[in-house]
Amino acid sequence: MMIEKRQFYINGAWVDPVAGTDFPVFNPATEEPFATISLGGAADAEAAIAAARAAFTSWSMTTPAERGAHLKAILEVYQSRASDMAEAISTEMGAPIDMALTDQAGSGPSHLKAFIRALDGFEWVRPLRPGVDGQDLVFEAAGVAALITPWNWPMNQVVLKVGAALAAGCTMVLKPSEIAPMSSIVFAEIMHEAGIPAGVFNMVNGDGAGVGSILSSHPEIDVVSFTGSTRAGILISKAAADTIKTVSLELGGKSPNLVFADTDVEAAVARGARFCFNNTGQSCNSATRMLVEREVYDQAVEVAAATAEATIVDLPSKQGGHIGPLVSEAQFSKVQTLIQAGIDEGARLVAGGTGRPEGLNRGWFVRPTVFADTTGDMTIMKEEIFGPVLAMMPFDSEEEAIEIANDTPYGLAAYIQTGNPERARRVAAQLRAGMIQVNGAGRPSGSPFGGYKQSGVGREGGVWGIEEFLEMKTISGIVDE
Ligand code: NAD
Repeated sequence: MMIEKRQFYINGAWVDPVAGTDFPVFNPATEEPFATISLGGAADAEAAIAAARAAFTSWSMTTPAERGAHLKAILEVYQSRASDMAEAISTEMGAPIDMALTDQAGSGPSHLKAFIRALDGFEWVRPLRPGVDGQDLVFEAAGVAALITPWNWPMNQVVLKVGAALAAGCTMVLKPSEIAPMSSIVFAEIMHEAGIPAGVFNMVNGDGAGVGSILSSHPEIDVVSFTGSTRAGILISKAAADTIKTVSLELGGKSPNLVFADTDVEAAVARGARFCFNNTGQSCNSATRMLVEREVYDQAVEVAAATAEATIVDLPSKQGGHIGPLVSEAQFSKVQTLIQAGIDEGARLVAGGTGRPEGLNRGWFVRPTVFADTTGDMTIMKEEIFGPVLAMMPFDSEEEAIEIANDTPYGLAAYIQTGNPERARRVAAQLRAGMIQVNGAGRPSGSPFGGYKQSGVGREGGVWGIEEFLEMKTISGIVDE
């Protein structure tokens, strides 16, 4: 039975679209639509912006402690809805149900807790410097925020933006990805049940050309926070320029993984390949270019190929640690085209390839794929594929490895595998990327997420995420008697 979810959440209530167009949401495992949403128009976006603007004065004047209490209320309701959230995410974008629960839905509470912690210690009024009286730096909510999110880690992105904006005292309009909107509908229900005051959080479904472009150009929007493609990030930045908005962008990546011979090569390569295939390769910080020191290169290629072959692709509804389909037909054909480009341009295919994995004739499933002997000019070394496709290349020296690693317009993440901490520090210092992870180390919750170069502007998560939604005001001349 088709799920019907045409309404938007505006000013504390579910409302019918004013200018909506029906839009099907597909289940990537069946290629069938399972829900109908409405893509809003200008009137819907404007109603949500007006509600957020009206709520701004009172919300921005709440105390940090009050906002912290609201975040705790959201956390509690979110945790009680975790399985609904996982189900929504798994059905809309194909993450296998266990991973949808622990990693996808599970990112929400983790970010909320980090914001609650960050809010606790945040200094809202700071002296300019010791010894100078009557010079205060005051941090305040920046205004009404537009939050535009993608489909690949839908709740991760929504909570990173909504949690930070709320903590800062901003009011907001969320436009989730039209391809994966169901989790955001559950999220709006959570916000309602948590008692977030009317108008503080609003959610309108729509596409980029419709609601997205209104949000990014509207004079009543002060801050735009966007995650998605570099293509859309450029359009949003241009649209926001006429009214001088603060824009933060989390965009694509083509992150390198530098494997030195002085590491446990088998463990490092297997871990790196698994990370590349995780979420079916649909992560902006995926480690897609594996650069390997020549003396262990052949061994690394073998391990990566074996890891790809051992990676099970199966239905999202099944439990287990397999990977699911890609999100959409568009992503499926993009990934097929890029795998074919790898073959045509002369890279050596050592695992996977075009077509679907055996036994899966329906659904946007692709084969975990490894290319060896790629070169810097090949399409698969340059373009973000957003599929489970690993490109490998040998290097002869540390300098060469760094040069290849930095030879990309992106700069989101970089990964280093070495047994030598001195080398790790030296190489990390020279990599032009926002997040460096050594020997598979994780990133604790509340760490700033974001990149250099065309991977974006700004950071999300914890204290730094909240700062994206703040203005700094100086007040000079108030001296207590
Ligand atoms: P997209 O950037 O087009 O969509 C992301 C969000 O932006 C959606 O909510 C969309 O409606 C909105 N949007 C699109 N155009 C807009 C515009 N002009 N103004 C305002 N909002 C707009 O991403 P996509 O088409 O879903 O995916 C295409 C490629 O983007 C992927 O293959 C991948 O390479 C990359 N991508 C990266 C990330 C990431 O996390 N960095 C996430 C998703 C996609």
